[in-house]
Amino acid sequence: MNRSLLVLLVAALATSLSCSKQPASSTAAAPATKHEHKAPHGGTAVELGNEAYHLELVRDAVVGKLSAYVLDGEMENFIRIAAPSFDIVAVISGQQTTLTFKPVANPATGEKVGDTSLFEAQAEWLKGTDKFDGVVLDLEIKGTTFKAVGFNFPKGNDKE
Ligand SMILES: [Zn+2]
Repeated sequence: MNRSLLVLLVAALATSLSCSKQPASSTAAAPATKHEHKAPHGGTAVELGNEAYHLELVRDAVVGKLSAYVLDGEMENFIRIAAPSFDIVAVISGQQTTLTFKPVANPATGEKVGDTSLFEAQAEWLKGTDKFDGVVLDLEIKGTTFKAVGFNFPKGNDKE
């Protein structure tokens, strides 16, 4: 009785050891990143400050729209902010163009203009451009102002 239990335990231990040595297929398929947090919509992570906050940028090529979600340092919680709008200057083929992000209300979450974590900008060029360099000019989040934050789309600027 005791002996068979021991055999079972050893067998279970051996199984778990051999499993942990094999790379899980999901890990192997994921891009090589040390980042612990993940953009909730699979978008581009733009870090603001030293992992203080993030913007997650998601492009909709069909309608030419870029959505910006304001997230915390872990990219787990949405941060509602009061900003009436903010600008990102994008450089496409050496030409500068400004995207103005407007607050979006969401009846499902109770978010409204002046208290929302979602902003959107629209531009024709967003339909056909999937790569550009950008700079967040000036964005205040909960009393802290972030200025001239450079990034690449779709790589982002998060170094960790
Ligand atoms: Zn980050």
